[in-house]
Amino acid sequence: MKINNHKLVTDAGENAIQHFNTPNQSAGVIVPKYLIIHYTAGNNMESSVSWLMNKTAKASAHLVIGRDGKIAQLGAFNKRLWHAGPSNWLNVTDLNTHSIGIELDNSGRLSKEGDRFVNASKRTIINEEIVFATHKNETREAAWQNYPQTQLDVLKELSLLVVRHYNLIEILGHEDIAPGRKSDPGPAFPMTSFASYIFGREESTDNLFKVTTNGVNFRSAPEQRSENILGQLQKDTKVEYIITSGGWIKVLIITTNPGIEEQIGWVHNSLLKEA
Ligand SMILES: [Zn+2]
Repeated sequence: MKINNHKLVTDAGENAIQHFNTPNQSAGVIVPKYLIIHYTAGNNMESSVSWLMNKTAKASAHLVIGRDGKIAQLGAFNKRLWHAGPSNWLNVTDLNTHSIGIELDNSGRLSKEGDRFVNASKRTIINEEIVFATHKNETREAAWQNYPQTQLDVLKELSLLVVRHYNLIEILGHEDIAPGRKSDPGPAFPMTSFASYIFGREESTDNLFKVTTNGVNFRSAPEQRSENILGQLQKDTKVEYIITSGGWIKVLIITTNPGIEEQIGWVHNSLLKEA
């Protein structure tokens, strides 16, 4: 996966991304500096995407990630989409002009009906998906829908990609830039560990690997097939760990290699060592 002309592009073997062009965006271009994480407070990915494509909503975000890891891009990363609303962080106001917004398909805060917990659409959320926690801007415990690991893994991958590509300086929740008015992504989202994972890589070498030899195949999928080869990595290429599958490791390329445009792909674990 890579960013081309401010849009996500996938390769053979990777899951396709749905591309839309939401009417809920401003003219002109922006230079993003922040990444803002949201929950949709919706019922599912499809209904949330269709709402954010609807003019009436007057809301949008650059990306929506489903609970199953599906990705939709609603507008180019250098366009001003409408996800933050009235907001400020340090001396920056109007975060829409300075950020990329990612919506996670998640019901958010749940309410109790009898012995069940339901979302805003009155759908019952199963016990396995419920997290009881106190929001950092509140004092009382509430029920929230969880974030599945698959969704978090995809978010991790996309965040590394956009943070690197645009040199973003910080990851914030909507709750950080509009406290009191907004509660997303809420206490079920592991913001502290997530942000330190994305930005902590310079200090920590835990997630960094080096390619051990020349001509290592860099692949779009975790399997040995000629059609998924994106190019060859040189010895000592630095890569950042994302996830593993079987004997394969999905990585983000840190040292650029001539002839390889893609930034995210798979390498066999036998060809990597800790950097
Ligand atoms: Zn939000």
